[in-house]
Amino acid sequence: MVKQTEELLPQNIQSLISDVVQGIAPEKDVRSFLVRVKQNGINRDALRTLTEALAFSGKVLTWPNDYITADVASTGGVGNKTPVIAASMLAALGFWVPKISGRALRHTGGTIDILESIPGFNAELPFEEFKGLVHKYRYAVTTQTSDLAPGDGKLYALRRITDTADSIPLIASSIISKKVAMGIRILIVDVKAGRGAIIKDYDQAFELARELVWLGNSFGIKSAAIITDNDSPQGRYVGNLLAVAEIVQVLKGQGEQDITQASVALSTQALLLRNPSMCLNDAKQEVKKVMLNGQALDEFRSMVQRQRGNTAYVDTLQMCFQSRRLMRVNSSSTGIVTSINADKVNEAIKPLIFEKRGAVESLRERRSGIRINRKPGCSVVKGDAVVTLFLGDLGSAEQAMQMLAEAIDVKQDIPLQAETILASVLPGEVEVVPREIEAAAVIAKDSDENGTRFLLQFNRHWSSYNLISGKMEANQDLSILGAALRKVEEELVVVRDEDFVLQAISSNPAGMVQYSKRERCYTRYYFSLYQIRFLGDRQEMLSHISSNDANRWVTEQEIMNHQTKDGYEISSFVPKVLSMFNCSLSSLPISFNAC
Ligand code: URA
Repeated sequence: MVKQTEELLPQNIQSLISDVVQGIAPEKDVRSFLVRVKQNGINRDALRTLTEALAFSGKVLTWPNDYITADVASTGGVGNKTPVIAASMLAALGFWVPKISGRALRHTGGTIDILESIPGFNAELPFEEFKGLVHKYRYAVTTQTSDLAPGDGKLYALRRITDTADSIPLIASSIISKKVAMGIRILIVDVKAGRGAIIKDYDQAFELARELVWLGNSFGIKSAAIITDNDSPQGRYVGNLLAVAEIVQVLKGQGEQDITQASVALSTQALLLRNPSMCLNDAKQEVKKVMLNGQALDEFRSMVQRQRGNTAYVDTLQMCFQSRRLMRVNSSSTGIVTSINADKVNEAIKPLIFEKRGAVESLRERRSGIRINRKPGCSVVKGDAVVTLFLGDLGSAEQAMQMLAEAIDVKQDIPLQAETILASVLPGEVEVVPREIEAAAVIAKDSDENGTRFLLQFNRHWSSYNLISGKMEANQDLSILGAALRKVEEELVVVRDEDFVLQAISSNPAGMVQYSKRERCYTRYYFSLYQIRFLGDRQEMLSHISSNDANRWVTEQEIMNHQTKDGYEISSFVPKVLSMFNCSLSSLPISFNAC
């Protein structure tokens, strides 16, 4: 993935960012830089240089040693409110919270959009005033300004219009540079994954979490990440003013379970980084205490008041539920709500919130949004209002209603619900994933006058071609080799020792974290890799294998392209497993004795 072109050398990045800040970089160069980073990736040296250049593009705050500064960031998603909720909890727990956040990159509302929907709220306080507030009250919120992270502010604006919001290095450098500029010592990032998140793919979200944690720690910020599921919107409300109401509800201990759980987990992790000898349960109880005794809500309210926001919107939630019209999106069938597609929700309500002029979107309608009346997992009867649409003065209700109806999935059976908290990545790249599995992948190679090819099998659950792989099941009395042999027997309908044997490509298993779509959780696989040696006649075996449509021989090029030449997906898992073992396909012997 790392492809270092000349233009992306650290010294070039540094001078480009310096030109961006001075306003002398041609916009086309900056656009092309962003697109290049998204397409090719950058190595860690260049990522660190980019982050440093962005952090030092403005003033960098320093605080007295006894200020334990902390912040919570989010990578962005639909229904995102955790950074403000958790930051208010951290303030109540005695941290200094000089919070910096951005406006929406791709979604219905960023943290700053939400706060600015409170009339009067000022997120662009003069530098000295912001600093003074933190010294005096420990908690204040700003966005990028001409003093604070101006380089990120400028790239951020261009990322919105160059389709580069979802680049892992651009997200990581954007988040960490702002925290370096604010003098943060402890950082927890809520990395959202799923259809509502900026990074939708769960494996990429894991990669982003690792990059963020590595990058933050490389600047001396004790950083950790928690991956939360955003396949459906988090919480009950999506919208800006509606999100304010939900922040208050969660801080009162009356919020939805998913968003409350995520906010408590983020704050708990900050406490654990401040005091590693604390036990998890005690840390969680401390967080819950400041939520249930009203201290965290007091911190939020006073912060809003100090930044000139109208606190009536915090005190009287009815003020946040303004709309010109309310409309019901009803269930078209009876059953269980299995999911509410957060991406479709975003598409439905963005035109009700943002006005688009050319490529630039500006927030115009803070009242619009939705309330989810039936969260995934709830049963519904045909005609029940699953979602209520709050409509302001912008956009077409009909179009939004149609898309919201399409977003709701109701089924008769009870599906496996994903947990909200999917995995954690802690400093030192310690990963906490919910389950571990020992597994084996098996490769077969053939070669003739038409070239060299490798055997894959179509996997119905993944809808893609994959290596034949077996895993150890609980209570199964087999070695990993035994599990692999059994899988090959089942999948190829062959007999071990008679038709084939397996030879270990590496005797040491390699670890890898992968999201399991079926189980809806991350799994750490300890993989062993084997090669098949077929014992009988080559032609007979080839025709036996090809009698099953699911089997297919593909070239190395097709594997590396993640696609067969006629367009079928090859799981990214295949090149990943091969690279874990440094397995060069060309140097493997072929799998037939006779050749
Ligand atoms: N938050 C940020 O500050 N930057 C991003 O790129 C995404 C979320």
